[in-house]
Amino acid sequence: MKTNIKIAVIGFIAVIVAIAVVASILGKPVQVVIDPGHGGKDVGAEYNGRYEKDDNLALALLVNEKLQNMGFETAMTRSKDKQISLENRCVFANFKKAELFVSLHRNSAEGAKGVEIWISSDSPKEDESLADNILNALDNAGISQNRGVKSGYARGDGDYYVNSHTDMPSCLVELGFINSDTDNALYDEKLDEYATAIAEAIAKTLTEQ
Ligand SMILES: [Zn+2]
Repeated sequence: MKTNIKIAVIGFIAVIVAIAVVASILGKPVQVVIDPGHGGKDVGAEYNGRYEKDDNLALALLVNEKLQNMGFETAMTRSKDKQISLENRCVFANFKKAELFVSLHRNSAEGAKGVEIWISSDSPKEDESLADNILNALDNAGISQNRGVKSGYARGDGDYYVNSHTDMPSCLVELGFINSDTDNALYDEKLDEYATAIAEAIAKTLTEQ
């Protein structure tokens, strides 16, 4: 072979190998995708300068770290203050072939407090187990009120987008009301305990499946 053809062939092979390596890293399946709600310009619920997006991310980073320390393969839809569409969050989790998807949020409503977890209205048993395990663990860690596992959507018909567009069992955790001083005090004081509770509940669900 002529030298320039050899170089071209070697270059071509190098590109193919590089693409394969990148694809295998990006496409590496994970056991759980943690989804901190909102981000960037989408601040989520807001109360006295406190943004839901920041609370969600702080908790999600801890949950992710604890799961990784337990030896689980995890991924996050965002690990910094960045806006990501609901569609891309689901596409990512489906691409990652995650076994579970957990979206972390904070609630907001006049005069309300406590924790509730949402699952799709046509959820199979696995979604319910995931949500039950997380809510029980949070209840044990100490919350102002257990508002239960609910199916559907809080503000009308249908489901939360991330619950209906992910291929795996999923739930959306509303961890306290951001406009409740009681819930905020608990959130700040127990952030690490909440993260441990959620990580252990996810681990329990993965081993039960
Ligand atoms: Zn939210």
